[in-house]
Amino acid sequence: MKSTEVRERFLRYFEERGHRRVASSSLSPAEDPTLLFTNAGMNQFKDVFTGREKRDYSRATSSQKCVRAGGKHNDLDNVGYTGRHHTFFEMLGNFSFGDYFKDEAIRFAWELSTDRKSGYGLDPERLWATVYTDDDEAARLWERHLPKERIRRFGEKDNFWAMGETGPCGPCSELHYDQGPEVPGDAVPNGAGDRVLEIWNLVFMQFERDASGKMTPLPKPSVDTGAGLERITAVLQDATNNFDSDLFRPITAEIERISGRRFAGGMAPEDAPFRVIADHARAVTMLMGDGAVPSPEGRGYVLRRIIRRALRYARHLGVEEPILCRLAPVVIGLFDGIHFRRSGAGWIAEGADNYINIDIVFGSTLRGEEERFLQTLSSGVDLVAAEIERLRRDGARRLPGSTLFRLYDTHGIPVDVIEEIAADEGLSVDREGFEAAMEEQRTRSRTSAKFEAADVSAFERLELPDAHSVFRGYPEQDFVSLPDARVVGLVKDGETVSVLAAGETGDAVADRTVFYPEGGGQVADTGSWSWAGGEAEVTDVRRPIPNLIAHRLRVTRGKLSLGQSVAMAVPEWTRRRTQANHTGTHLLHAALRRVLGASARQMGSLVAPDRLRFDYAAGNAPTPAELAEVERLVNEEILRDRPVAKDVMAMEDARRKGADMFFGEKYAERVRVVEVEGFSTELCGGCHVGRTGEIGAFKIVSDRGLAAGVRRLEAVTSLGAVELLSRDEETLNAIAAAAQTSRDGLVDRFQEREDRVKALEREVQSLKLKLASGDGGASGETVDVGGISLVRRIAPGLSIPELRNLSDTLRSRIKSGVVVVGTAHEGKTSVVAAVTPDLSPRVSASRIAARIGKALGGSGGGKADLAQAGGRNEALLPAALAEAEAALRELLSEVA
Ligand code: ATP
Ligand code: MG
Repeated sequence: MKSTEVRERFLRYFEERGHRRVASSSLSPAEDPTLLFTNAGMNQFKDVFTGREKRDYSRATSSQKCVRAGGKHNDLDNVGYTGRHHTFFEMLGNFSFGDYFKDEAIRFAWELSTDRKSGYGLDPERLWATVYTDDDEAARLWERHLPKERIRRFGEKDNFWAMGETGPCGPCSELHYDQGPEVPGDAVPNGAGDRVLEIWNLVFMQFERDASGKMTPLPKPSVDTGAGLERITAVLQDATNNFDSDLFRPITAEIERISGRRFAGGMAPEDAPFRVIADHARAVTMLMGDGAVPSPEGRGYVLRRIIRRALRYARHLGVEEPILCRLAPVVIGLFDGIHFRRSGAGWIAEGADNYINIDIVFGSTLRGEEERFLQTLSSGVDLVAAEIERLRRDGARRLPGSTLFRLYDTHGIPVDVIEEIAADEGLSVDREGFEAAMEEQRTRSRTSAKFEAADVSAFERLELPDAHSVFRGYPEQDFVSLPDARVVGLVKDGETVSVLAAGETGDAVADRTVFYPEGGGQVADTGSWSWAGGEAEVTDVRRPIPNLIAHRLRVTRGKLSLGQSVAMAVPEWTRRRTQANHTGTHLLHAALRRVLGASARQMGSLVAPDRLRFDYAAGNAPTPAELAEVERLVNEEILRDRPVAKDVMAMEDARRKGADMFFGEKYAERVRVVEVEGFSTELCGGCHVGRTGEIGAFKIVSDRGLAAGVRRLEAVTSLGAVELLSRDEETLNAIAAAAQTSRDGLVDRFQEREDRVKALEREVQSLKLKLASGDGGASGETVDVGGISLVRRIAPGLSIPELRNLSDTLRSRIKSGVVVVGTAHEGKTSVVAAVTPDLSPRVSASRIAARIGKALGGSGGGKADLAQAGGRNEALLPAALAEAEAALRELLSEVA
């Protein structure tokens, strides 16, 4: 049975039994800061299970894109070594939101697994079930289908599930399949090896756990299940591991073509690179398809690590060029019509609503990332060699953990590559010291996370009135001030409190607010609260959990108590400028797409009072003329003073209107659409001007490359534009004053100076050469090698043309002989070897340079009379120059 059929049968089976077929959500869950990547089918239904969100259906089914790499659920290191773990996989699931419970869940799972006609027709003799220690009910229900010996009980670790420290939880029950004795492993569930394979996990959400650990039965228990598509497919295709199924075969075939090596199948240990690369190609394609970009932190960092791991394994297959970018189109093709659909010249990633231009996302961004890392890998080898050389000189026999960490963390050289080189050089490495340094860094990054899990749970414990956190800060509402908001919740240091005293900092929730919480790229408002006898300064505003606005504030006078009525104020111009920048950002986005094409889509944005920052996809840098055109289009829209409409509507209507949907966003059923008619339509909850004229003016400040295929543009609007103008004016005046001329005379004065500088540089260069070729300054010597004079000299700080000049000068001074000159300049070490014409038939400069290059840890070569060598490590230069003598002797002995 083909994998497409396996997926379809699952969804159809549940659809026919009253389940709503729901598309997979994005791999980057934008609204859940506690989750690195979507890792289970239930993620997108979390709020439905807790009752925070209502839907018009109570049964659902999906095939969810999941990634288990980095974060809490991490299967990265298993990949390639078990036949059943992936970083990216699809989880088939059926869900009951307070509808059916254990009885039907077990019946459905059994019937679909074993039914020969519309199900999978698995052999019942090979199936096992597991249940939680005391879940007699589930055990009894399985007994309808299975003999008692094939129903096993397991404890918390395997068979109990909880959403978090508090909240819904309950026992699980799993279905396992025995692949038979040919597959290595124990003949029972949860044993070693792949033999008895977990295919399906049924979670019964039966209890609600409170902070004290007490579990209360839920009035309407729920069901959440997850079955691995890759595992079921492999079983149905008689493959003993997932990589031999049709979900992977086209990818491993492509790797065979690229590498010229053969993939034997089965679980041959030497084939691990095929499995790892194929797995990682899927994960990288799916993550980038959903809008992730490699970066130094967060999700982007995990993506980067997956890319690098794949490239390291590719080296084992002899592939040292970008490979993932060539596999990505194969992966996309495999998911055509499933997780990707065609749209114009590109693709749309399902659930993430992300537009993918293959040339940009994979051909440019991914390829660039791969190229840079391969570069690092090869130059990393030099760096590590230099480091080892230095340690050797100091008599060390071991590479310290801190050095290992620095090479890895700062230079991105993979640890196993460093270990390999060190081992070759007979040095051991301090792994423990390295792990300690890693752990330290992890702690550092953890504490910088904004809302910790503990913080969030305090907000969940607040007892709030039905209506709270009502945002009234749009300009058509209360805008920037509210005379009488009421404090309904207070949190300090992760605890709910009833008072914040003077000098204390905490988070406050109010019934209404004009403070905008950070979101959609717009930064949080700052401002103040005041009340009879007290004042507080608001420094940050966020939504730690959906629908709750927390004001981080410091009480500067008096005390702030629950129930207090407060006057809120955001400084008017802070907000007006933010609004101008926000609407300006929308206009910019629309203008960029008009000028550069639809692929110039948003990759990220920041809207602050003083500036706006916009990251967008672009293969090449826009020309100055294109940027000027973008600026003109935006300013024209501003000067037309168009109304900016904001309407809340059903998601479907917004889609129909052509609103831009962004990657990674999970949209509610009803959304807010911000529209400048005929120019820009976007979904956005942010603060905007009433009419475009309020933006005043729009001026681009900079545009630069951020990562391969991504550019960052910064601009100012409103008073920010006026301030820019006056700052520029001041700068110009100051330069003019320093140059003792008027502003109009500046260009001429600048040209004059430029000419003078050039003349001076020429003079300096000729002086440097004089100094280097003379006897003072540069170190050097002339020796006689078998009757031929060899001139050797080190002249630091010369560029390569200067070094050539020097070799010419020295060569013309001796009638007959060999000249070898070396320099270290801007981190590179270069050597030029030159031979006088009378000797060149006998003595090859190229051979001498090759030998020197080797001694430099680099390479060398050229013509018979003039050749060049280069490396990176300055310390090797004297020894390398000394090699010239040996090289010359060798050449002479060959001639003799
Ligand atoms: P395992 O113990 O095999 O790692 P798990 O207990 O982590 O599995 P669950 O979290 O219960 O698995 O996920 C539900 C189903 O998803 C599993 O029964 C399995 O079929 C599949 N699954 C889980 N992790 C992976 C993975 N890394 N790769 C492929 N399939 C997976
Ligand atoms: Mg697992």
